[in-house]
Amino acid sequence: MEPILEVKGLRKSFGDFTLKDISFSLPRGFIMGLIGPNGSGKSTTIKLIMNLLKKEAGEVRVCGLDTDRHVLAVKQKIGFVYDENHFYDELTALEMKRIVAPFYREWDEEAFNYYVDRFQLPVRKKIKALSKGNKMKFALTVALSHQAELIIMDEPTAGLDPVMRSELLEVLVELLQDERKGVLFSTHITTDLDKVADYITMINEGKVVFSVAKDTLQETCGLVKGGKSQLTPEIRDRLIGLREGSFGFEGLTTDRKQMEALLGERGVIERPTVEEIMVYLVRGYGNADISL
Ligand code: ADP
Ligand code: MG
Repeated sequence: MEPILEVKGLRKSFGDFTLKDISFSLPRGFIMGLIGPNGSGKSTTIKLIMNLLKKEAGEVRVCGLDTDRHVLAVKQKIGFVYDENHFYDELTALEMKRIVAPFYREWDEEAFNYYVDRFQLPVRKKIKALSKGNKMKFALTVALSHQAELIIMDEPTAGLDPVMRSELLEVLVELLQDERKGVLFSTHITTDLDKVADYITMINEGKVVFSVAKDTLQETCGLVKGGKSQLTPEIRDRLIGLREGSFGFEGLTTDRKQMEALLGERGVIERPTVEEIMVYLVRGYGNADISL
């Protein structure tokens, strides 16, 4: 089966910021997290995928359909959650639903009611009176109520308390029990990814640093720790985002096997969290040959 989302060679410039060569692919049945520091180009990438910005180059396919050539069909297939409220504040959630539902060929009232119930959404309240978390849940409810196959969200968990965050993540995991579906969401809360992501794409300074399965990432990368005397020039050269203190050193390797051979018995290589991988890669960006 074709991937649910394929992004190839996306490019967009704003002044001195250029997003370029953005390519990655998400198979059906999985969740991909899009991470990177503020201003790295996550929202721009998502807007280009959604055709909310005009691409300077590149192409996007959703369920095998080119998004420029099959605009309407693609709209039906994507459930999109914006990074800010794009509903009318003065309407109640129910009134808003009545406005958006007719835009979708396969509006699913049952699904809508299911998520309203599940999220305990006060749908008779005006949207402006909803909490940030409830606005988010309402947006997700709409996104999940029209038989979309691909869910795309920009920073859905930003500003939510831990309980709401885990509720939202649970819904995503549940959704993926349907193996035809897929989720792409950007976040800077990397613990969300430790919990639910199958694939991780990292962007920095407008470029893809890596796009791989999370398991592969955590197996090939390692957090290397040792005493000063172990830091040979060869090891130093290969460590990304190296930190040295009076006790010793810490750095990231993207080739655990090679590093094990260089260190021999003496060093320690730990399994890094996604957060650590991101922090070290950003710190060492530009000075290191990062290949994954
Ligand atoms: P992220 O979502 O990763 O924080 P963005 O994609 O929002 O990053 O932004 C990437 C860069 O592009 C930033 O430097 C931002 O200031 C710039 N940028 C984004 N949108 C616009 C725009 N509409 N006009 C000018 N610059 C923009
Ligand atoms: Mg953003």
